[in-house]
Amino acid sequence: VTIAGRVTLGLLVAAIVAGIAGDMVPARAPVTLAGYRVVAADFHTHSSTWSDGALTPWGLVLEARRQGLDAIAITGHHQTLDAKWGRWFSERIGGPTVLVGEEIPERRHHLIAVGIHDTIDGRLAIGDQIDEVHRQGGVAIAAHPLAEFWPGFAPVMDRLDGTEICHPAIYESDGVQATLTQFAARTRAAAIGSSDFHGPGRLGLCRTFIFARDNTADAIVEAIRAGRTVVYGRDGTAYGDPELVRLAAVDGRLAAAARPDYPVGWLDRASRVSGMAGLAGLIVITRRRRA
Ligand SMILES: [Zn+2]
Ligand SMILES: [Zn+2]
Repeated sequence: VTIAGRVTLGLLVAAIVAGIAGDMVPARAPVTLAGYRVVAADFHTHSSTWSDGALTPWGLVLEARRQGLDAIAITGHHQTLDAKWGRWFSERIGGPTVLVGEEIPERRHHLIAVGIHDTIDGRLAIGDQIDEVHRQGGVAIAAHPLAEFWPGFAPVMDRLDGTEICHPAIYESDGVQATLTQFAARTRAAAIGSSDFHGPGRLGLCRTFIFARDNTADAIVEAIRAGRTVVYGRDGTAYGDPELVRLAAVDGRLAAAARPDYPVGWLDRASRVSGMAGLAGLIVITRRRRA
């Protein structure tokens, strides 16, 4: 092996090692407030096996940990298998709490089921879908209730447990935040923030802060039913239980955690630079060989 070959190999190995080290997440102390464990959660995420996300269920679990989430629901379109695999994996690595979920995307409404165990048939009427979610011990959340979905939700406005008041769509066009807020005002549902993560964008953007007894699936579902949530929308406006919103404002930690920046540390930079240099070296070497 030539010296150039060794240098190239060294650069690539250094890139991988620095990349892995940079991805390690320091342990965070759990946040408690008003006697509750505050669980940072994302209840609307898609993975790749049977759904249309880019990450595997276990990739989603690792990314959730990296984004400082204590809990996620994996919500495949019309399926719950990815969520079960993700939960199995997360339990083994001591990762975030994974709730089994499903997105039921129908023409007239998209419904998120969280805390269920069996896939719910999208051909059921919306009221029957919600009954089935409740029968399985879960909660029903209106997914991105834009104006076109309002008629679909009309028969069940008093039976929704949660409604997405923060969703990445609020950043895509003006007026969406107002639409989601107006929809929520017509319900008694808990304020929910979800990333609807498929791969691009960021998992945990628009997260929900749940004020729960502990970080178990049962406690999280109970807290949603009781409306103990705080969500930060566009421009940092807080939604949710008024008393908890007030406490969170005094405390300040949740608003800061709601907009985590992507930290690009020196390890990330080192990984990128040595990775690019290594690849450049590889190209030069292979060209020379061919010549
Ligand atoms: Zn949807
Ligand atoms: Zn979705």
